[in-house]
Amino acid sequence: MKYKAIFIDIDDTLLDYIPCCRAAFDVAMKSTDRFTDRAQNTDRYTSDELFNIFFEISGRLFSEAKHGLHTIAEVMELYPQEFIAAIGYPESAVDPFKHAFRAAWGTTHTLVPGAKETLEALQAKGYRLFAASNSFGHLQRSRLEHAGILHFFEDTYISMDIGYDKPDIRFYQEALRRCGLQPSEVLMIGDSMTTDVLGAQAAGIDARFFDRKSDNLFALIADL
Ligand SMILES: [Mg+2]
Repeated sequence: MKYKAIFIDIDDTLLDYIPCCRAAFDVAMKSTDRFTDRAQNTDRYTSDELFNIFFEISGRLFSEAKHGLHTIAEVMELYPQEFIAAIGYPESAVDPFKHAFRAAWGTTHTLVPGAKETLEALQAKGYRLFAASNSFGHLQRSRLEHAGILHFFEDTYISMDIGYDKPDIRFYQEALRRCGLQPSEVLMIGDSMTTDVLGAQAAGIDARFFDRKSDNLFALIADL
C-alpha cells in the first residue's frame, strides 16, 4: 500500500451538507419564532425563501473563510447575526437562533451515497482512518455517531480542536503530529479544492478531489 492512512473531509464528502443544514435550520427557525413577534414577520417569506437567505449568507461567509477572510470560529458567530438582520428579526433572536441551530446541527446525519461502504472498504484494506473537518469537534463527532460511522475513525481532527482551519498548513501539520505519520504516508480526500486538496498538498500530503456533482465516492477509492 502506498499510504498508511486516509484523512477524509466530513461535509459533502461523507455527510450531505444541504439536507443536514436544512434540517437544523427548520428546527432553529421554529425555536427562534418563539422569541420574536411573529405578527411582524408572518408571511413575509416562505420557509424555502428563509432557508435560501440563510444558505446564501452562510455559504458566502464559509467561502470567505476558505480564503482567509474569517476564521471558522468567526463565521459561526457572523452567520446567525447576518441572517437575523437580513430577515428583519430583532437582535434578541440571534442567540436563540444560534444555539438552536448548533444543537440541531449536532444530530444531523444524512449520508452521502456510498459513504459507509467507502469507509468499510478502506478499513477492510487496512488503512487507518481520520476525519479532517472545519467545525466544532463535539458537533462533528456527534453527527458521525448519529450517522453510524464514527467507529470507523481512529481519531477526528476538527479545526476548533486543532486550533487552525483547513487549508492552513498548520492544520495538516498538527494532524500529522497527532497520528505520528509522515506526509507521504497519508492521502487526503475531500470535496473542496481549496481546503482539502490544495491545503493538504501544501503540507506535502497527496490529495484526491471528490467532485460531488460527478464522482462516486466508492469508485474514487477503488484503486487504493
Ligand atoms: Mg467538505
